[in-house]
Amino acid sequence: NALVKSVMTQEGVLTILNGIDLDVKQGESIAILGPSGSGKSTLLGLLAALDAPTGGDIYLDGESLGALDEEGKAALRKEKVSFIFQSFMLVDTLNALENVMLPAELAGIKDARGKAKQMLDRVGLTHRLTHFPHQLSGGEQQRVAIARAFICEPKVLFADEPTGNLDGANSDKITQMLFSMNKESDTTLVLVTHDLILASRCQRQFMMEDGVLSESTNSRPDITDEVR
Ligand code: ATP
Ligand code: MG
Repeated sequence: NALVKSVMTQEGVLTILNGIDLDVKQGESIAILGPSGSGKSTLLGLLAALDAPTGGDIYLDGESLGALDEEGKAALRKEKVSFIFQSFMLVDTLNALENVMLPAELAGIKDARGKAKQMLDRVGLTHRLTHFPHQLSGGEQQRVAIARAFICEPKVLFADEPTGNLDGANSDKITQMLFSMNKESDTTLVLVTHDLILASRCQRQFMMEDGVLSESTNSRPDITDEVR
């Protein structure tokens, strides 16, 4: 069933997503592009079981999200999904290292601290382990969020503008990390991005406009030869 997401506002019912039909295979990488306010983050939140649609259903690794209660959804998220939020969503009261360790500890992975250090090293933050989120720049917070999302080797990674706050060198590094995880661990990548280099590395590109998603059929119309 095609997905619909409506919310009640003071002006009445607002339809944010209108009839979305999307099928992503295990190990695939897709990019979702589109203007601000078109519904990209809302879609990602639904796919990751963080929010529920008003119409239609979502299957994640064969399981119907509509059939799960909150507890079931939380378990599914913990086991199979990582999310990089547009606004990072780091825990304010935990330092960089503790933020990255958290999901590994919750999942019972041994040597969570050592793994977290390794992840922070990969994103170039060895010198910021004990900094709290408010002591980190936007790009540094983003990289902590990325390290946190990578630590559990999820089946699916949902990333909302993962390179949005990064300079060229850091964007390249994160792009490489995303695709090596995709290749080595068969992690499915569902990326929302305005970064055309990142989008062009994905197997398929989609365009969101006014809550309607369409696949870019002719070879990457948004991407010029220059950035490719
Ligand atoms: P951006 O590129 O700026 O991040 P986006 O494509 O991610 O934009 P969304 O965050 O998905 O956009 O929001 C889509 C639209 O839905 C926006 O116009 C937003 O104001 C509206 N919207 C989202 N959530 C709610 C809500 N809970 N209540 C009312 N309106 C909402
Ligand atoms: Mg958004």
